[in-house]
Amino acid sequence: MIRLYDTARGEVRDLSLRTPGQVSMYVCGPTVDNLPHLGHGRFTLVWDVARRWFTFQGLSVHYVMNITDVDDKIITRARRESRSETDVAAEFEAQWWDAMDRLGVVRPDDSPHATDYVPEMVELIASFVERDVAYVTSDGVYFDVATVPDYGLLAGQPLGSLRAGARVEENDEKRSPLDFALWKNVKPDEPSWPAPFGEGRPGWHTECVVMSLGLLGEGFDLHCGGLDLKFPHHENERAQAEAAHRAFARHWAHNGWVMVGDDKMSKSLGNFTSLTDLLEKTDPRAYRLLVLRSHYRSPIDISPSSIADAERALERLDALARRFDLPELGGDHFELASSQPWAEESLELYERVVAYMNDDLNTPLAVAGLFDALSAANASADEGHLASARRLAQAINSLFGAMGLALLASSHPIDEAAGQLVRERDAARAAGNWADADRLRQELVVRGWIVEDGVSGTVIRRP
Ligand SMILES: [Zn+2]
Repeated sequence: MIRLYDTARGEVRDLSLRTPGQVSMYVCGPTVDNLPHLGHGRFTLVWDVARRWFTFQGLSVHYVMNITDVDDKIITRARRESRSETDVAAEFEAQWWDAMDRLGVVRPDDSPHATDYVPEMVELIASFVERDVAYVTSDGVYFDVATVPDYGLLAGQPLGSLRAGARVEENDEKRSPLDFALWKNVKPDEPSWPAPFGEGRPGWHTECVVMSLGLLGEGFDLHCGGLDLKFPHHENERAQAEAAHRAFARHWAHNGWVMVGDDKMSKSLGNFTSLTDLLEKTDPRAYRLLVLRSHYRSPIDISPSSIADAERALERLDALARRFDLPELGGDHFELASSQPWAEESLELYERVVAYMNDDLNTPLAVAGLFDALSAANASADEGHLASARRLAQAINSLFGAMGLALLASSHPIDEAAGQLVRERDAARAAGNWADADRLRQELVVRGWIVEDGVSGTVIRRP
């Protein structure tokens, strides 16, 4: 049984699934107004590891992560750069997927865009207005949080104390400072959609309610995101589902901050100005290993020295892969624990790792156990016990693979077919043929390559 901390209950509890054997997960995705930052890297890695682990344990996972493509920040950037909002969103969404591919994060089963769900959002908001759960003001429609009796559940604070701590509001038409915007009335030159309560655009909190329930159905299993989303974003999503009398997430899971020194950070850090920048300067597996070495609910420290430390640890792993000629795992292919030949020393290791991982995804203890096993495998081989050393090495490889971390026995020469695809993609890009360039990039990704746009054209390498 997998156990996970549930923010709504404030305790680690059994992950009780709506349908046995199936996990439905919704992860709040990025607003595509800028290059992905380091905090984005952490949350996608944490939930990628969870998804992979559930799959490894034999569960079938439906993973949804949204793309917020309408937002104040996108509009601001479009104005500043005299571009359309669609153009800004498309550029940074492409950057987003590139970074995810480099990190080895498996693409979601569904990645809905907010702008594709506006009619459904309008319908939900209209039903709230009709029932006086929401009200119309001169700048838009607001949700009345006092209509939800347990508002504050995720924040861990009752409404009264949240209200006492709330900022003084500029809009004096609001019934409470905690009431949040469901809909923003149209302003000149901003994207807008028609609605019975006035032309405008949706606020951020409504899209995830509509898309999660639309794609995963009522009472889906797991709603995930960074700790910064717990309140108000997730609280406000939950409030709307409650008000709509629709069963929402059975389980809420949040990952910790990315830290530099004592500062909580999301935008930039020391030498690494963005996730994209970090991935250009380091082995992308180093970030995954750092994430695995911390508990997902704890803060994580990313610095040049912590990255360098992770890269040294990767060298030990790759040396093991070379010594035992281990196959490269991780990537988009999911192995199942039940199909592995666990026996003797590998079975003991497997059971130890399962015990850690199923106890609230305790990756730091699991990884420590795997590094102890690595030392044991090398020592055993040194003593001439090659068969048992190999069994242990293969188990280490499988278990890291189950967490999405590939051990690399060799660097990969670029084969003829991949070289041809690279040349075709460069030609397509030179001709401004973006659809073909994207299709060719995808073909390379499917063949296991990480694709980057270098100064003089497409650069590919193995993860
Ligand atoms: Zn969300």
